[in-house]
Amino acid sequence: MKTLDHIYINGRFTKPHGTETLELINPSTKTVIGRVTLADEQDAQDAIAAAKAAYKSFSQTTKEQRMEYLQRLHDAVAARSDELLEVMIEEYGGPRRISNASTQRAANSFLLAKELLKTFDFVKHVGISKVVLEPLGVVGLITPWNANYGFICSKLAMAIAAGSTAVIKPSELSSLQTQLLTECLHAAGLPAGVINIVTGRGATVGAAITRHPDIAKISFTGSTAVGKTIVRGAVDTMKRVTLELGGKSPNVILDDADLEKAIPIAVAAATVNSGQACMAGTRLIVPESRLDEVKLLVKKAVQALQVGDPRDSATAIGPMVTQTQYDRVQRYIRLGVEEGAELLIGGAGHPAGLDSGYFVQPTVFANVTMDMKIAQEEIFGPVLSILSYKTEAEAVDIANDTIYGLHAFVSSSDIGRANRVAARIVAGRVFINGMYDEPRAPFGGFKQSGIGREFGTYGLEAYLEPKAIMGHGETSNENAQ
Ligand code: NAD
Repeated sequence: MKTLDHIYINGRFTKPHGTETLELINPSTKTVIGRVTLADEQDAQDAIAAAKAAYKSFSQTTKEQRMEYLQRLHDAVAARSDELLEVMIEEYGGPRRISNASTQRAANSFLLAKELLKTFDFVKHVGISKVVLEPLGVVGLITPWNANYGFICSKLAMAIAAGSTAVIKPSELSSLQTQLLTECLHAAGLPAGVINIVTGRGATVGAAITRHPDIAKISFTGSTAVGKTIVRGAVDTMKRVTLELGGKSPNVILDDADLEKAIPIAVAAATVNSGQACMAGTRLIVPESRLDEVKLLVKKAVQALQVGDPRDSATAIGPMVTQTQYDRVQRYIRLGVEEGAELLIGGAGHPAGLDSGYFVQPTVFANVTMDMKIAQEEIFGPVLSILSYKTEAEAVDIANDTIYGLHAFVSSSDIGRANRVAARIVAGRVFINGMYDEPRAPFGGFKQSGIGREFGTYGLEAYLEPKAIMGHGETSNENAQ
């Protein structure tokens, strides 16, 4: 049982002004593993003041200095990656394999940002104008619980690369993970006030960051509902916002697809990170003529998934993060049955022998139609809906019949055809015939899946504001466009 009673402001671990405490529960066992004292509005304001003071000199650092800081941040996080991994498994319940990838990726995001800076030009020339890309100011980074290290590190890496200082508000459900990560970030030895971390409630700390006039930009990852609240709160001070929100990603299987390959990938895409993933491919859109084959293969692939102890590296699906999340998934499973979908495998309740934690059964519904809530709403658990189509055009219509547009998957033996379908799906990323990882490519959504993009050049530019200077007296105009 750990007691967490410090937040991180101005380079120091300090006692929060906030007094509310929260129990931290291991989702695999439902046992209390810690108690955290949460930050409040006053703590958010202190963190913002520290970041504002640090911004004066940090915004003037050279690209080379910031590359050095990014290297140090990488080294400090990588040095404790084994401990970070164990805490993520214990507090979040993420299966070892995915938690390991997520932890490695978190550390690597600093190296990727460093690489990007090597060739990134902060000064461009447009006609007679010199265009300087300047940091925005203090940024507020608000993150969810489903990949705590990854979201904090990837956002922070871009803020540092841009020359901004940061106030980070992680999910209160990730307090143990955040505590350890903060120790790593502190060990990197950046100037005081560049990084501030205030773990507290969204409605208090998150809202205070959203409204504060000294925050120039918010980068938020979380639900679409909270994303909308943030935009409303941010508009009064005209903050820049980057929002990475929810999804209901389509997976279109074309009629010429190799189902023996495509279906296991589809099941993996639907259940990645125990289904608690914004990009999860939760709508499997298949040709009616091959529905029976699909159903057989889906059943087989789901039966092969190991559900249970996330410490075991063979486990594919761990517990849901909280009782609330468990209840939410149960509600949707019951709803699917009520709406008349065919329960192909899984169902309500715990898997046999797994009632000691928030474990759910991976569940697949067939004969789903787009008027059902299970086809429209993000469940955020390992629940897959199979929908069928007669023509390719209908498949694309079903894929796009959603308020979301984060991610999509397409399978076909004809790569040209797969590309043509990919071009017609409204989504920020499309995977053809597989699952991929490219952290330099833009990530983000169309429609209600968000605003803006993260990662790579697009991600960095979202932390910069162009200033055009004319009459600058420089003769070189090599990059004029
Ligand atoms: P959430 O929206 O409830 O919370 C996210 C963060 O926002 C938390 O830190 C929370 O405390 C904070 N918050 C809550 N209310 C706030 C408010 N009024 N003002 C400011 N901040 C507030 O999301 P969650 O339950 O933590 O995570 C699950 C959701 O995140 C899912 O909808 C999922 O799709 C989404 N998500 C999106 C991506 C993506 O990249 N698109 C990635 C992961 C998760």
